[in-house]
Amino acid sequence: MADDPTKGARVIAGAKGVFINNEFRTSNSGKTLDVYAPGEGAVFAEIAAGDGVDIDRAVAAARHAFSQGAWGKLAPFERGRLLAKLGLAILDNAEELAQLEARDTGKPMKQARADIQACARYFEFYGGGADKFHGETIPFLNGFFVATEREPHGVTGHIIPWNYPAQMFGRSLGPALATGNATVLKPAEDACLTSLRLAELAAEVGFPAGAINIVPGLGAEAGAALISHPGVDFLSFTGSPEVGVMVQTEAAKNFISCVLELGGKSPQVVFSDVDLEAALPSLVNAIVQNAGQTCSAGSRLLVQKSAYDRVVEAVADRFSKLRAGSPEMDLDLGPLISQLQKKRVETFIAKAADDGIPILSKGKVAEGAPSDGFYVAPHMFGPVPRSNTLARDEVFGPVLSVLPFEDEADAIELANGTDFGLIAGVWTQDGKRGTRVARQIRSGQVYINAYGAGGGIELPFGGTRKSGHGREKGMAALHDFTTLKTIITKHD
Ligand code: NAD
Repeated sequence: MADDPTKGARVIAGAKGVFINNEFRTSNSGKTLDVYAPGEGAVFAEIAAGDGVDIDRAVAAARHAFSQGAWGKLAPFERGRLLAKLGLAILDNAEELAQLEARDTGKPMKQARADIQACARYFEFYGGGADKFHGETIPFLNGFFVATEREPHGVTGHIIPWNYPAQMFGRSLGPALATGNATVLKPAEDACLTSLRLAELAAEVGFPAGAINIVPGLGAEAGAALISHPGVDFLSFTGSPEVGVMVQTEAAKNFISCVLELGGKSPQVVFSDVDLEAALPSLVNAIVQNAGQTCSAGSRLLVQKSAYDRVVEAVADRFSKLRAGSPEMDLDLGPLISQLQKKRVETFIAKAADDGIPILSKGKVAEGAPSDGFYVAPHMFGPVPRSNTLARDEVFGPVLSVLPFEDEADAIELANGTDFGLIAGVWTQDGKRGTRVARQIRSGQVYINAYGAGGGIELPFGGTRKSGHGREKGMAALHDFTTLKTIITKHD
């Protein structure tokens, strides 16, 4: 990366502090946290370690923006215009943002570039939605006129993870801002530099002070302060089920609601009549994308016994060719986010070997990948016993578990056989069977003959059970970020 902007002053902008009322200010404690470049395994930036006092200040700024400031006075179309402008500014600065995202997360450049395009799409999409989301009239008793109105909650608190920081910024803040909420975001301590830069861009395109506030810091400090803050009216959390429970508990204490986007153990169900050539790229990419650090990773490959050998052989062949490398090497996958995550994933791999589960195929860490980077070669295991941890628990790494099934009924039981329910794929050339099976799988999304296509910004997304509740993406997110008021007028 010759003119690498991530090596310049922008990154150090992170260390300027917390972003409140459209400006960086020193955090309360003045403390900082080191930020690692996962591809290099070395510290390359630092961020402010925000705490409860910074959260107090950010919530106060958001409250003021919502109830007295310029933000709360904007008409819906004016909010929409600002979101659309931010989308354009993101596209204008796409390469800088992509390089920052790639260095901060380790992901291959092509993927970081795609993530920034998706981030811009969220602001375009929700910018367009701001003045098209409305209530209805309801026929009632004679002499009455009844209308419903969708109102913003007020101040919304957002906590996002490190796996797709820029996309999560757009996905979580886009619908909140479109509906008129003022926001406080606590990004993940492992990767938050694009969030800070995106907030700066929002100020540059004219978002009024206090509409977007960013407090970087540790989950146990800044995060815990945000989720329990009495001045927050709604919480949007994306992350692990363990922290999701805390978010819901704190929300309950303050009598507010929340959307939880949690983990997954998503199945790809492959019937013997699959068009294998068409399916192969998706079957492999679904677990390799972002080095498997994707909530909707297709981490369970369920294959009908009558096609097991044929499907496994073809997937294994592709797996063996996969290469992990640094962002600028731009290979199939990058490193994991941290040494901690690398150790976690390696523990799963070691346990599978201890449990005697055969390795069906393995990719490689490419020659030339920095030796200190947090790389893990992709692994494909099978047949994995249904009760094994590899069949049930989220690895959050490039580890594919293959499980055979007998028939349609068995496939559905197996697909539904974990605590999660986020997304699923069904592969069959029998259209009726595809629909039948999709309708019986308990998850927020089911693809038939595709998987996670096109970013899905327009498509409602979210989980059931341990994958969470509420919906983000699509127009559905606008429901969660608003509350419904009914106005009943007696006119006779
Ligand atoms: P995590 O729950 O540890 O962290 C997520 C965020 O929560 C971070 O910003 C973190 O600082 C914050 N946090 C941590 N402890 C907190 C606390 N006590 N109070 C408040 N905030 C706290 O999750 P992670 O390991 O960073 O991310 C991986 C998980 O996220 C996986 O389970 C993955 O499936 C899930 N995820 C889900 C989606 C989705 O859309 N469903 C998307 C991406 C990731």
